[in-house]
Amino acid sequence: MSPTVTVIGAGPAGLIAAETLARAGARVRLHDAMPSAGRKLLMAGRGGLNLTHSEPLDVFLERYGEAGGWMTPRLDGFTPDALIAWSEALGQPTFVGSSGRVFPKAMKASPLLRAWLGRLGELGVSLALRSRWTGWDTDGALTFDTPDGPVTETADATVLALGGASWPRLGSDGRWTSLLEARGVEITPLLPANVGFNVAWSDIFKERFAGQPLKAIALTHGGVTVRGEAMIADYGLEGGAIYALSAGLRAAIARDGKAELTIDLHPDQSLGQLTARLVTPQGRQSQSNHLRKAAHLSPAAIGLMREATGGPIPISPRSQAALIKAARVTLTGMQGLERAISSAGGIRLSELDEDLMLRRLPGVFAAGEMLDWEAPTGGYLLQASLATGLAAARGAAGRLGLA
Ligand SMILES: Cc1cc2nc3c(=O)[nH]c(=O)nc-3n(C[C@H](O)[C@H](O)[C@H](O)COP(=O)(O)OP(=O)(O)OC[C@H]3O[C@@H](n4cnc5c(N)ncnc54)[C@H](O)[C@@H]3O)c2cc1C
Repeated sequence: MSPTVTVIGAGPAGLIAAETLARAGARVRLHDAMPSAGRKLLMAGRGGLNLTHSEPLDVFLERYGEAGGWMTPRLDGFTPDALIAWSEALGQPTFVGSSGRVFPKAMKASPLLRAWLGRLGELGVSLALRSRWTGWDTDGALTFDTPDGPVTETADATVLALGGASWPRLGSDGRWTSLLEARGVEITPLLPANVGFNVAWSDIFKERFAGQPLKAIALTHGGVTVRGEAMIADYGLEGGAIYALSAGLRAAIARDGKAELTIDLHPDQSLGQLTARLVTPQGRQSQSNHLRKAAHLSPAAIGLMREATGGPIPISPRSQAALIKAARVTLTGMQGLERAISSAGGIRLSELDEDLMLRRLPGVFAAGEMLDWEAPTGGYLLQASLATGLAAARGAAGRLGLA
């Protein structure tokens, strides 16, 4: 008789774990608390499903910060190229966007998810929806809340792929933390990552510029500089470049109650080059028009210079250029988990063995965003969720003598 494996969580990590185990010959039962599978994956596809990134693997791994070393064998086991091949095998060819990010040509997640669920059905994976895992009973059986009441299930191995805690209405609400903590598993608190930060903009600035991008800028915090784009929001700033700094900014806010962000509005021009451009006489133009034409700044960037001084923009070209190169903005807080693209924190990596099995719970494996790694947007989240899902499934298959 083939061994049985219960996979809990039908997001990317759980789906790939279920697929891998079914291919290895296990009988797989997949549970999700929601009425349908892969809700966050579908949401991720709304603005263009960024599957992975085309940059070299060593650069790619740096995106995971301190967890990069830990992530290396997992990504070696499922590289970005392997992810692209996997997507293509599901009928979803990909392309590399101008920023190096990789997307399915369809852009959306729905065709990929549909094909994936079809494949799982063909492999014999049974899917129990509206089935919320609630822990273990005194005999060690898994317990679930279902529309038909409580259900228990025993399995030869379990893969937990319950996600982080961002966008909880999509299913991953982080409520699993108390179930594992009760078993002694150490968990780093789940905090928002890839989320906007608050700035006390003036009313006039937010009325005029909320929703507008600051393109081709460089942001610096704590000695780390990131180039990219940010979006002005009525509450503050959001967007890729700011997300890339979010771990350091979050720590500074936790420590000091605020974080200083330095914005270079023209990273391709030196202070000297900008000064030289700005010495051209302003004539009868307004200061804004002069800055717009001479320094090629958008109205939003000029507005941001005013916000940074808290008053007028200086008159001298040199001071104007200095402000363009280093407009300082104070971040006073961050948005919550309900608006974050992902969460930081989760099961401490030291709680897992090489095969992603929980050291304290033999036979129970864990994968995906519920583990304590974080990364910026750019395809790194799905890549790591899938790679760890695959690694946990291989670990479980090995333990069951299937690999
Ligand atoms: C708006 C948005 C856009 C995004 N865009 C991108 C992108 O373009 N590229 C990218 O790489 N990443 C993106 N992400 C992040 C990416 O979607 C996640 O990192 C990824 O889905 C995590 O996969 P996972 O399988 O670990 O968890 P999840 O996808 O969160 O799946 C976990 C599953 O577990 C289920 N579950 C939770 N608790 C229980 C329980 N007790 N019992 C049963 N089931 C339970 C949940 O219902 C859920 O279905 C985006 C996220 C958001 C919110």
